[in-house]
Amino acid sequence: MNNLIYLDNAATTKPFDEVLETYNKVNKQYFANPSSVHFEGNKSARLLSQAREQILNLLGCNASHDFIFTSGASEANNLGIKGFVIKHLNRGKHIITTCIEHPSVLETVKYLEKYYGCEITYLSVNEQGLISLDELRNSIKDDTILVSIMAVNNESGTIEPIDEVLEIIKKHPKIAFHVDATQAISKITLPYNKIDMVSFSGHKIHGLKYSGGLLINKKVQLESIICGGGQENNLRSGTNDVALAASLAKALRLSLLNMDKDEKHIKILRDKLIAYLLSKTNKYVLNSPLDGSNNIVNFSLLDKKASVVVEALSNDNIMVSSISACHSRSEPNSYVIYEMTKDLNRSKNTIRISFDGTNTLEEIDTLIKDLDFICNEVKYNG
Ligand code: PMP
Repeated sequence: MNNLIYLDNAATTKPFDEVLETYNKVNKQYFANPSSVHFEGNKSARLLSQAREQILNLLGCNASHDFIFTSGASEANNLGIKGFVIKHLNRGKHIITTCIEHPSVLETVKYLEKYYGCEITYLSVNEQGLISLDELRNSIKDDTILVSIMAVNNESGTIEPIDEVLEIIKKHPKIAFHVDATQAISKITLPYNKIDMVSFSGHKIHGLKYSGGLLINKKVQLESIICGGGQENNLRSGTNDVALAASLAKALRLSLLNMDKDEKHIKILRDKLIAYLLSKTNKYVLNSPLDGSNNIVNFSLLDKKASVVVEALSNDNIMVSSISACHSRSEPNSYVIYEMTKDLNRSKNTIRISFDGTNTLEEIDTLIKDLDFICNEVKYNG
């Protein structure tokens, strides 16, 4: 589509051309099953382990961690959380997470509560979306075995204090720490080599959909949740997609390479949009914290319906989100913005703008002009 202004990069990103080329090339030249013991199989197996090594190296974890390829962050969250808890049920059944995690974490802990009798503590957040470290400290009990806290929230862009959480958890060697870094990887720096388990997804970093994985400290033991032929260290059976693995390594390398440059550029776009939103306090209220991720700006419309505004922008070739793509077709309000603000109206009318390094200042000017026009025209009817 011509003149497309794509501002929904937290939902998914456009794959890099180099990633698509890698995917095609590897599929043609390394199509043999990496578990086959013949020459071609060995060739595939070598490439698979090179992709794995490259990902570990890029994240500074080659000595400390393994990397398990999964179909993305949802599966990595399921594997890390279910795999760890089911393996360590004899140690305790208490899990701590936050009330603003992605559904792939929230539904996973609910599953463990329902089928394994686990007890879940959901840390609350303040208006910035931040957890309280005191609440975390006070929630830890003798039978706590896992803490799962996202690095960057996918709706508000809030950056959680992962370094400080690590300091707290360090004092409890029985507890494993899992981080959903899907919106953080290649956007902010994280101490990957100090975290027990980290999930992320390829399609948020210009890789391909259904690619991603779980970074896991070598000392951490998991139970497999997909049983079968024993691939991926016996944790995720099924024939490996070597091309997808190589494409993930490529996407990670390129997005990390662009990280500093993109961050500076995106901050300019974000500042411009936020300055506009803050200048129209009768129309908008900002939900994202000012010190949040540069990539996400979330705000609520005060007298307009978000779904109508999203559609009107879309008709003008500007793609943004209301709530997040994971549930924007089914749920009437954003539980994340509700937990932050305790304001139902505000949580029903949220818009999320999410940038990538290719967005331009002209695009943001166009967005602002169009938003201004639409918000003067569209009548609230919700
Ligand atoms: N966690 C977070 C924070 C996310 O933003 C997403 C994607 N919306 C996921 C997990 C799930 O990722 P995937 O689509 O790769 O399963």
